[in-house]
Formats: sequence, structure tokens, C-alpha cells
Amino acid sequence: MMWTGAKFLLSVVLMLAFLTACATNPITGRSQLMLVSGQEAVTSSYQAYAAMTASLQQQSKINRDAAKLARIRAITGRLIPHAFVWRSDAASWKWEVNIIDSPEVNAFCMAGGKMAIYTGFFDKLNPSDDELAQVMAHEIAHALSDHTREKMSIAMASDLGVQLLATGAQTSAGQTQMAHALALYVIQMPNSRTAESEADRIGIELAARAGYNPEAAVSLWQKMARQGGGGPEWLSTHPSHETRIAELSRMAPQVEPLYREAKGRPQQSYHF
Ligand SMILES: [Zn+2]
Repeated sequence: MMWTGAKFLLSVVLMLAFLTACATNPITGRSQLMLVSGQEAVTSSYQAYAAMTASLQQQSKINRDAAKLARIRAITGRLIPHAFVWRSDAASWKWEVNIIDSPEVNAFCMAGGKMAIYTGFFDKLNPSDDELAQVMAHEIAHALSDHTREKMSIAMASDLGVQLLATGAQTSAGQTQMAHALALYVIQMPNSRTAESEADRIGIELAARAGYNPEAAVSLWQKMARQGGGGPEWLSTHPSHETRIAELSRMAPQVEPLYREAKGRPQQSYHF
């Protein structure tokens, strides 16, 4: 590929940014590439989520099953107050959850607490409340650990980012469009194995704090392994099902006391 002058300059700028933009995550202690600020990640995720749900709505793909929606809102509503244990700024996020009509076994939580779960998850896995709590807690853990922001930063440093910057960065409208494209792109981009392990560890603890059985993380992944396949959340860069099940089986007894303590007291809930 021929480098145009502008592209070359941008890649140099990105390289320099790459060298200086690694930040240590206060939650995981891991150094992450951060070319996008926390506020930018949240704002562009809000915009991208609104655009995505509006488009799905037009295609009648936002599921309106009242019982299903009440169930997922009750479960995520119980998880959210415990997310603030990891980061207090999450208390000001505009949390939202929707159900998307799609056969994919998938779910996500963007920066800023914008979540979705696909009907394929209900239809193919027939999850218990405890299992649904485990998957949503895992997704929330990705958002708490700044994985969206990290993926946006990695995408910016890639060829795609260079192209987006070259075409759109000159105007503020172009920048908004670019941030929007990045936020949508990263939902489809698998997390690294490291990010997955972080989300498993934080997710199982988050669910235990909200009174959800940690053993359900194990049974959820056993179901997932039997089902095979799935959406981008569960693709190739993930730990193998066996590794993951073994790790979660080891973590479950560690968070068991938090689960038992939570079971003994009334649960708080976030109101959507
Ligand atoms: Zn994940």
C-alpha cells in the first residue's frame, strides 16, 4: 500500500500517542493503551447506542416481551449498585438495558452502562436468573475495566483508525462520526483473553455481592460449551471453554462468603 503524506503523518502521531498513552487501570492494575479519554468513550457510546437502538427499533428488532424485559431489568438493576464498589463514577452513568431480537447468543455493556442481551441467549441456553446475572455481571465488568475504551484505542491505532482519522478528523462533525463508528465497531470486536479473564473475575464477584450464586458462572459456561458457537463475545480470542470453566470453578468458592452475606440482607435496586 502506498502511504499518502497525510496518512504517514497521522501514523507517526499515533505511534507517539501509542508510546505515551498507556495508563495503569486502577481496577485491574494492568497497563492499557488509552488514546480515548474516559469521557469520550462514554459520550460516543451513548450516541452509538442511541443510533443503534433507533435503527433496530425501525426494523422491529427491539424485543418488547414485557415479562422478559422485567426479568432482565430486575437482574441488572440488582447488579448495578454493586458496580459502584469498583468505580464511583459509574453511579452517574445513564444505565440502560434492552433485549435485541437475534438468534445470536450474545450480550454487551458499552462504556457508560449501555447494555443489551440477545433473544438467542434466552432461546438457546434457557438460563436461570443466577446464570443471567452472571452474563450481565461479566458484561458490566468489561465496562468497569475500561475494556470498551481500550478497544476503541486499539482500533484507533489500527489501519481503520488511521483511515477514519484521515477522512474525518478535520471537522468536529467528522470527529463525532468517527467516535460513533469506533463505538459500534468495538461491540463487534472480541476482547483479548486478558480482558476476558479480568471480566470473569470481577463479574463473578459483582454477581456474588448482589446475591447471585457463583456456581451459576460455571453452569452457564457448561451450557455455552454444549451449545457451541455464539456471537463475537464468545469467539476465538476467548479462553477455551475448559480453561474458563476451570478458572470459574476455582473462583466460585472464593466469592461464596460474599454471596452468602448478600443473601441474608435485602437487595438494593437501580431504577431504570
Ligand atoms: Zn467478555
